[in-house]
Amino acid sequence: RSGEGVGGGYVFYNQEMNHTIAGRLHIESALRRALERKEFSLLYQPKIDIATGKIIGAEALLRWLHPERGMISPVDFIPVAEETGLILQIDAWVLETACAQARKWRDLGQDAFRVAVNVSAKEFTNSLPERVGDVLSRHNIAPQWLELEITESMLMNSAQGVLGIMDEITTLGVTLSLDDFGTGYSSLSYLKRFPIDTLKIDRSFIQGIPEDVNDCAIASAIISMAKQLKHRVIAEGVESQEQLNFLKNAGCDEVQGYMFSHPVSAAKFEEMLVKDYRFAL
Ligand code: C2E
Ligand code: MG
Ligand code: MG
Ligand code: MG
Repeated sequence: RSGEGVGGGYVFYNQEMNHTIAGRLHIESALRRALERKEFSLLYQPKIDIATGKIIGAEALLRWLHPERGMISPVDFIPVAEETGLILQIDAWVLETACAQARKWRDLGQDAFRVAVNVSAKEFTNSLPERVGDVLSRHNIAPQWLELEITESMLMNSAQGVLGIMDEITTLGVTLSLDDFGTGYSSLSYLKRFPIDTLKIDRSFIQGIPEDVNDCAIASAIISMAKQLKHRVIAEGVESQEQLNFLKNAGCDEVQGYMFSHPVSAAKFEEMLVKDYRFAL
């Protein structure tokens, strides 16, 4: 088959390739090999309680360490993985690995935080609740330890089917958060109808704080709406003390961003956990 057995002959993702059948086949087989050869890994970025500075969770973020190409960003390969359907296997690996890791951290006595996994829209099908339940029981993970980050585009699909899947997932006890909130098209009525625990304010609105009056207005509006609708709210991409101060005053519950920590290896994350590290706020 195309792209296989060509010694070292990886062909990489680029815009042009993505538009040809041969190009897509090459990318697909490179991703398949990446799965077989265990070229994927997870980094963990802490989620921090804005009141205490304590780590209350970790977002698992996927990395592809290519033997010749080095680190490839998920932004560059997730779209291709979604197009080829390989995202199902990749995200299954992510869920499995994150849950195995959560189990290890529990065994170290860490019991007050949860691990969050990003879920592709392609994966959000009728079989997801069962797959999640299966992973939880195989790793002996309490559902409260797991959070799934979904995006607004999923709410758009076929609202009724999606609602059923979400209900099944939250009935298991797993929490759902709405990632990149504010960048999609979700109607506000969705927020009332869907069993969403946490709204995650998109980084693009955090970036302009405190100079950009529109970003400030949008961020505080999302926070106060979240509160009134009894959702928790987290800001992603927090990079400065000014942004943190603003979010604290506005009543944001949790923060995540380079100001506190970049995504780090499981070992580095574990060091912070074990030390009961408190971030200065
Ligand atoms: P996301 O879920 O919204 O993740 C946040 C992204 O922002 C991450 O990029 C993270 O490294 C980055 N980030 C965190 N703090 C800061 C900050 O303070 N400043 C800036 N500039 N960036 C920050 P990353 O790891 O490259 O992931 C990009 C996207 O790829 C994710 O966006 C998510 O949509 C997707 N993704 C990552 N891992 C997975 C996965 O396992 N499965 C699926 N389906 N998608 C994934
Ligand atoms: Mg996310
Ligand atoms: Mg996000
Ligand atoms: Mg994002």
